[in-house]
Amino acid sequence: MLKCPKCGLEVDVSFIKHTCSKCGEPLLLEVDFEKIAERDIESLIPGELKKVTLGEGRTPLIDYRRFLLKLEFLNPTGSFKDRGAALTASRALIAGWKTVIEDSSGNAGIATAAYSARAGVKVKVYAPADAPAGKLRLIRAFGAELKTVRTRDEAHKAALNDQSGVYVGHVVEPLFIEGMKDIALELVNSKKRFEAIVAPVASGTLFLGLYKGFKELVKLGVIDEIPTLIPVEACGYTKLSKYLKSISLTCGENERSILADALRLTIVPRLHQIAEIAREVSPYTLTVGDETIGEALRELYSIGLPVEPSSAAVYAAAKYVAKEFSGNVVVPLTGSGLKYVPMPNELLDRYLF
Ligand SMILES: [Zn+2]
Repeated sequence: MLKCPKCGLEVDVSFIKHTCSKCGEPLLLEVDFEKIAERDIESLIPGELKKVTLGEGRTPLIDYRRFLLKLEFLNPTGSFKDRGAALTASRALIAGWKTVIEDSSGNAGIATAAYSARAGVKVKVYAPADAPAGKLRLIRAFGAELKTVRTRDEAHKAALNDQSGVYVGHVVEPLFIEGMKDIALELVNSKKRFEAIVAPVASGTLFLGLYKGFKELVKLGVIDEIPTLIPVEACGYTKLSKYLKSISLTCGENERSILADALRLTIVPRLHQIAEIAREVSPYTLTVGDETIGEALRELYSIGLPVEPSSAAVYAAAKYVAKEFSGNVVVPLTGSGLKYVPMPNELLDRYLF
C-alpha cells in the first residue's frame, strides 16, 4: 500500500502516480506491521516488490579511523541509486508500464537505465548537459533515450511534462525511498556501533530512506532510538538552511559548487518531509565547498577509495561531525569516481597530485 504522509490517502502500489491525488504530497510505502513477525528485519521491504535485481545492496562497511565507510559505490552501476532503481523497475513491471521517464544529474539516470534494461522497460532520461560526460555516456550505453537540457532543475520540469511514459523520477517515486531504507537495515544488521550518520541531501531520498528504515526498526523493537542523522549539502544549493542551523565547510563568497555535481538540485518535491525530519534528528545541516571537497577527495583516493566528488563532500562533513560526537560516524560513500574517467586534467592536478 502507498500512503500520503500528509492527508493519509491510501492507494495500491500499481497506482500510476507518485503523488497524492487529493493533496499533491509525494507518497510513501506503508509497511503493514501486523504481517511482520517480531524483529523480522528482512520483511520491512515486502518480497513481492523485489522483481528485478542486478545484485545490488549488501555493500561492505569498513572501518577507517572513527568512521564506518559504507561502500555504496560498489553497487552494480557504481552508486547507491541502484537500490532504489531495482524497486522502481519492479513497480513498473507490477503495474505493466511500458515506458518510464526519469530526471537525474547522472547516477539515478544510469541506475534507472540499467534496471529498466534488465526489466525490459523502455526509459527516457532527462539530464543537465553539464553532467560529467562519463555519466551521460553510461545512460545511453544502457539503452536509455537521453535528453539533455540546461540545468538539473530544467531536467526535472521537462521530465514531469513528458507524456510519452510514466514519470518515475527518484525525487518522488515511493519505492525509491524503500531501496534507500535497505541501507538502514544493513547498518543495524552489521551489529557495528555508531552514534551518527551523515547523508547527502539533494532530492533527499537517502536521508528519507535512512530515517524511514530506522523509524520502522524502532517500531519493530530492533533498536531503541533513531540515530543522529546529519544532512550534507553543497555550497549554493542548500535548501535546509531555512529550517535549521547551517554550518559552512567552507563556502566561498557566493560559491555554487561545481565538483558536487550530484548535489546540485534546488527543486525538491519532498522538501517539507525532509525538513521536518532534519529538525527532529539533526542539530544542523552542513554545507560543503569545492575546496574542502577536493581535499577530502584526495584523502579518500590516498586510502584506495575511488569515489566521486559528491561522496567526498559527505566524508568532509563526517570529519567535522566526528569532532563533535564521541562515537563512530557512518559515511555512505555513494558514488564511484570511475565514471569520471577521463576526469578533467585540471581537477586531477589540483587535488590528486
Ligand atoms: Zn494527501
